[in-house]
Amino acid sequence: MKVTVLGKYGPYPKQGGATTSYLVECGGKKVLLDAGSGSLSRVQEFCALDDLDLVILTHLHSDHCSDMFILRYALKGKTLPVFLPRMPEKEYGILHACPCFDTVEISETLDCEIPGTNVKLSFCKTIHPVECYAVKFREGQDSFVFSGDSRYSGPLTDFCKGTGTFLCDSGFLSSQEDTGALPHMYVREAALTARRAGVKRLLLTHINPVYEEKKLLDEAAAVFSPVEIVKELEQYHI
Ligand SMILES: [Zn+2]
Repeated sequence: MKVTVLGKYGPYPKQGGATTSYLVECGGKKVLLDAGSGSLSRVQEFCALDDLDLVILTHLHSDHCSDMFILRYALKGKTLPVFLPRMPEKEYGILHACPCFDTVEISETLDCEIPGTNVKLSFCKTIHPVECYAVKFREGQDSFVFSGDSRYSGPLTDFCKGTGTFLCDSGFLSSQEDTGALPHMYVREAALTARRAGVKRLLLTHINPVYEEKKLLDEAAAVFSPVEIVKELEQYHI
């Protein structure tokens, strides 16, 4: 499997950047994993939009799905399967009504293979203000989990056990006050999840443009290694 970072920022991009989106190539298929702002322009540096085989949306916040509302204008005579949560109703309804999208509702009981491959998908509900799922890709001995957005979560930690590469939401530095309603993990919690789950490698993403990346990396590295902050347009082999 190969993961190309199309956008790593949230909730808005740095100048020249994009918000959450990855191109996952596995089993000969091309999967767009989240579709934040700027992702459609970026993905075309790697494949034509008509060559996408599947879209998976972890949740329907705009920094993870806004370019889906543009993709509907670009697909010509093709129906693209889209896995997504059922809520929020408004965003789901717009995407569900698009003739170019064949929508499949994500749930924790949805265990399936990407059609035509041996790649298995499974999902774990996260802690976030809207319905959101982490997703696991497994192909033979190789595995990859993307957290979606989440606060620290015991079930997510269990879901990551035995995973090779863990790509995790790392929204906050420890200097950020916890009001009890933060929608993301502290970066040290991302690292703690990786350590408790025993993953082989931690990749940090959902980078808030206001933070210095070195500070994020230092807080994570104090808890877990190997760890790195993903780079946009970089390709990671799983
Ligand atoms: Zn979100």
